[in-house]
Amino acid sequence: MIAMNTRAIHKTRAVVLHTLDYGESDRIATFYTLEFGKVKGIAKGARRSRRRFANALEPFSCADIRFSRKGDSLAFVDQCDMVDHFPTIRSDLEKSMSASYLVELTGAFTVEGKKNELIFKLLIDFLSVMDNGPFIPGLLSFFEIRLLHLSGYEPVLDRCALCNRPLEAESSYRFSNSRGGLKCSRCDAFHPPTPSLSIGTLRSLIHAKDMPVNKLSRLTLSRQSAQESRQLLVHFIQHLLGRELKSLQVLHQLRQIGAIG
Ligand SMILES: [Zn+2]
Repeated sequence: MIAMNTRAIHKTRAVVLHTLDYGESDRIATFYTLEFGKVKGIAKGARRSRRRFANALEPFSCADIRFSRKGDSLAFVDQCDMVDHFPTIRSDLEKSMSASYLVELTGAFTVEGKKNELIFKLLIDFLSVMDNGPFIPGLLSFFEIRLLHLSGYEPVLDRCALCNRPLEAESSYRFSNSRGGLKCSRCDAFHPPTPSLSIGTLRSLIHAKDMPVNKLSRLTLSRQSAQESRQLLVHFIQHLLGRELKSLQVLHQLRQIGAIG
């Protein structure tokens, strides 16, 4: 018979989403794990013990973690073995801020204790692509569209969300946050609230959702498409979350002062 106060011990691969120093030497971390979804835990002595934590508790690090917990309480993390610290990302301002955005976005669209292996894989794949090659314009949009798809908030981009007619070159389209999809000019002829979206942009996003991650670098977005995609997805995500993510604000500010491209 199992004693009432026995803690189950788990091991899983994890990406660090967020950390917070606590007290003299502890660190509270939120992870997205392969086997348990989002997990929040405290690592006692994390800032002192290199042996048990090896500096793995930093945002967007990938590590194998060991933790125990009772019920829904804060997990007790007692070991972190680094799998990938993504050094190339960390040496580049645009990449490291972008990686911070990917993990913040993942945290915002997931709940504790709900496992989704595809979301874990998405995060790892995009971090690896960023670590192993040049920064791909459109990468953030590609991540957003895939995360929205996997978390059940996929916007309707292949047809009009009102009349269901598939994309056609003669029509023009606007995106409606409240509808979660496109409105065609037949349905929305008298209300021009935002500039219309080009068919090319919409097709690129539909394409980006399904193509293998290692081929994404071949999908080049025109300057116009890149801007339209950012506009559409950033505003839709802000609408869904009811707030703007901090890392996105920082990225925006860095762009404004010309620190990144
Ligand atoms: Zn329509």
